[in-house]
Amino acid sequence: MEFRDLKQQYREHKEQIDRAMQQVIDNTNFISGFQVNDLEEKLSEYVGTKYCITCGNGTDALQLALMAWNIGPGDAVFVPDFTFFSSGEAVSLVGATPVFVDVDEVTYNISPASLENAINEVAGNGGLVPKVVITVDLFGQPADYDAINKIVDKYHLLLLEDGAQGFGGSIRKQKACSFGNIAITSFFPAKPLGCYGDGGAVFTDNDEYADILRSLRVHGKGTDKYDNIRIGVNSRLDTLQAAILLEKLKFFDEEIGQCNLVAAEYSNRLKEIVKIPVVLDNMVSSWAQYTICLQSIEQRTQVMQGLRAVGIPSAIYYKKPMHCQEAFKNKKYEGMIYPITEKLCSTCLSLPMHAYLEEETLNSICDVIVTTVGEKLR
Ligand SMILES: *Cc1c(COP(=O)(O)O)cnc(C)c1O
Repeated sequence: MEFRDLKQQYREHKEQIDRAMQQVIDNTNFISGFQVNDLEEKLSEYVGTKYCITCGNGTDALQLALMAWNIGPGDAVFVPDFTFFSSGEAVSLVGATPVFVDVDEVTYNISPASLENAINEVAGNGGLVPKVVITVDLFGQPADYDAINKIVDKYHLLLLEDGAQGFGGSIRKQKACSFGNIAITSFFPAKPLGCYGDGGAVFTDNDEYADILRSLRVHGKGTDKYDNIRIGVNSRLDTLQAAILLEKLKFFDEEIGQCNLVAAEYSNRLKEIVKIPVVLDNMVSSWAQYTICLQSIEQRTQVMQGLRAVGIPSAIYYKKPMHCQEAFKNKKYEGMIYPITEKLCSTCLSLPMHAYLEEETLNSICDVIVTTVGEKLR
């Protein structure tokens, strides 16, 4: 069986997706075909922002946002310690310094209290200048924007929402990817809204940022691609991906609804056995992952082996805190501690999660966990 069943999704929507792809091939407008514009309109409408600017992938989207703000050497960018590598990598790519911040024990998203401590720590140190907070909507649940917006305002920082996993989620009906001064998402195939290759998008309400972002993604273009007014990158969403995404957007909300049913069933079966994910009252998760926590690294290994024995894949997101990554070894910030992230990295386990997960499969996954953890307790 599949961890995220893209094959079943394709089978159920094959006709419409094939038709959309064939149209692109017939037109041969592989770059900047009309579908790219159409998709940008549909996505900004869906999210509720003024602009959507698509690009090559989610990592580029983060980099483009930081470039649009001229973030660079000497600037501190605050990033959760428990996330995918890209969230910090993009900061280093523009020459700025990522400052990692511990996460909240309940939501696994950036901890507002730890964030404020980190800002004060950096500001008091006199070396780097605090500039940007990158929030990650981890596993599909939006970060705590009520609290984070207060901090961002208080210290006059910019907010960049990394909604690579959060697309489709919401807080009080306000959609993810509308919370930052700029927000980004990824259309990597396994993300909530995935294409058939790499893809990404940037969202903003700000006219000036939107202009700069459109220029940056095509070699810093001015009036056209042969008039270059700044150093940019080559990062476009190709027409084939846009056409696929236009079709997939039509049944996206239905899939999110389905994922929420799967999550509710998992939680119902597992709540007495393991630590289950908590979605706060006013929030909707897009369930990029359904992540439980076991009691120890040994117990996690046992559960993984038990699942593998009956042909069920599981995955560890994430095994290593960002501050422990070799690539960031010179970025250690003295005096910062990460007890929650460290604990999560040694106990978390993500289970198969997608709109096409069958009840029978879910039951056997839960049976394995109950048996393994139950035996351990005895
Ligand atoms: C996947 C992901 C990215 C990067 O997206 P790509 O399209 O793979 O470059 C960035 N941030 C987070 C949190 C992600 O999960």
